Order: sequence, then structure tokens, then C-alpha cells
Amino acid sequence: EVTLDGITKRFGTETAIEDISLTVREGEVLSIVGPSGCGKSTTLRTIAGFEEPTEGRIHFDDRDVTDVRAEERNVGLVFQNYALFKNMTVLENVTFGPRMQGVPKEERRAKAMELLELVGIDDLADRDPSSLSGGQQQRVGLVRALAIEPEILLLDEPMTGLDAKLKKRLRREIGKLLTDIGVTTLYVTHDQTQAMAMADRVAVLNDGHIEQIGTPETVYEQPANQFVANFIGTSN
Ligand code: ATP
Ligand code: MG
Repeated sequence: EVTLDGITKRFGTETAIEDISLTVREGEVLSIVGPSGCGKSTTLRTIAGFEEPTEGRIHFDDRDVTDVRAEERNVGLVFQNYALFKNMTVLENVTFGPRMQGVPKEERRAKAMELLELVGIDDLADRDPSSLSGGQQQRVGLVRALAIEPEILLLDEPMTGLDAKLKKRLRREIGKLLTDIGVTTLYVTHDQTQAMAMADRVAVLNDGHIEQIGTPETVYEQPANQFVANFIGTSN
């Protein structure tokens, strides 16, 4: 479970997010949607520990992680342009984190192969990442994030730059993976269809604050205000 309690992040005089409070329950998938610049990435980066909040506290379950370093938060990250390691095979990319965690070789290998199989790319284990298609690389990125058995998974537009057909397929695969594994997930996307299809709840952000948070049905059928109605109504 992730709890944000009154999180504000300012960069100089610029307020990126203001007084964000929300809870993502154990195993829940929360989608964060909103216009460009509304603070989606800042929210995730703050949870990951890459940004220090100006105000507010962050808890993972009962643990206050506000002052815990990023590497010690046990968070899985799939960010846009969060590149795979070069000069490492796909398998080495996926087993890198578990190796750092001290997981024995055979065990981390078996786990990695199992995850690669789940997303249908176990046959690519020995390949160089640069030889893979964009969609295959995205899947490796996702598997690499899951391999450390994160408490929390943060996805920031993990499918940007892919064609519509591949997006559709990956969307299904990611959705299935998340329900199968049941990891607490915050999922930032520009793609409303995907947010509505995959999420247990959706948070609509605007100009650094939450306009509404609720199930996809609620947000769609009972928008809290005109902004939400317009934004959710604008399908893409
Ligand atoms: P997009 O959909 O375009 O990715 P976003 O919702 O992820 O947008 P953020 O990247 O969180 O938006 O940015 C929120 C606001 O904070 C923007 O106005 C942005 O310019 C500002 N901001 C983000 N990072 C920094 C930074 N390091 N320094 C200064 N301002 C920043
Ligand atoms: Mg962003």
C-alpha cells in the first residue's frame, strides 16, 4: 500500500504538484491521467525517491519512506526512455537487480526466465537489447522492473512510441501480468482507453492537483466537474 499525505513539490517558484493525498491499496492498479505538465511524472518520481517532496509524507504500508533513499525503496520502475543496460544480454538485464539483492544465480535465472516467458519473449534471453524491436524492449523493461519483486510498480507511459497494434497487444499483456502478479501499481498514461481498461481506479490530475479519483465507471459516468467531464470525454 502506498500513501501520499499532502505531497507538494516545488521547483523554485514553480509548483509541480500541490497537496496530493491518495492511497493505492495492496495489489491495486491506479492510473494517473491528465494534460501535459499537470504533474504525473513528478508524482511518480517523488514516490520513487528521485525527487524530495517540498511538503508532505510518503508511506509504504506503515513505513515512512519520505527520507529513505531511492535505492532502498524497493520500487520497480518503467519510465519512458528508461533505457536497458547496453553490453548486457536481455537475461543479464533482468537478473542485474536480483544479483544486487544477493539472490543466488540459479534462482534469479529461473525467475527471470519465468517472467520473460509470461510476456512471451523467453526466446530472446540471450539477445543484445539493441537488436530488439521497441515493443520487445519495453517488455524487457517491464520484466526487469518486476524481477526485483518490488513492493510497488511505477509505470510512466511505458508504451510511448509504439504503433497502435503493438500497444493494443502489450496493453493486454501488461494488464494480465499485473492482475496475475498482483503488485501495487501506479500507471501514468496519456491513453484514456488504456487507463479505463486496466485500472481499478483512475486519478485525474490538473495543474498539479487531483480533480477526481475513483473507479473508471465513476469518473466516466459521474465526473466531479467540467474539467473531468471534458478530459475523460476526450477519447484518444
Ligand atoms: P507530461 O504528460 O508532458 O509528461 P507531466 O504530467 O508528467 O507531463 P511533470 O513532468 O510532472 O508533468 O511536470 C509538472 C510541472 O513541473 C511542469 O510544469 C514542469 O515544467 C515542472 N517540472 C518538472 N520537473 C521540473 C524540474 N526538474 N525543474 C523545474 N520544473 C520542473
Ligand atoms: Mg510525464
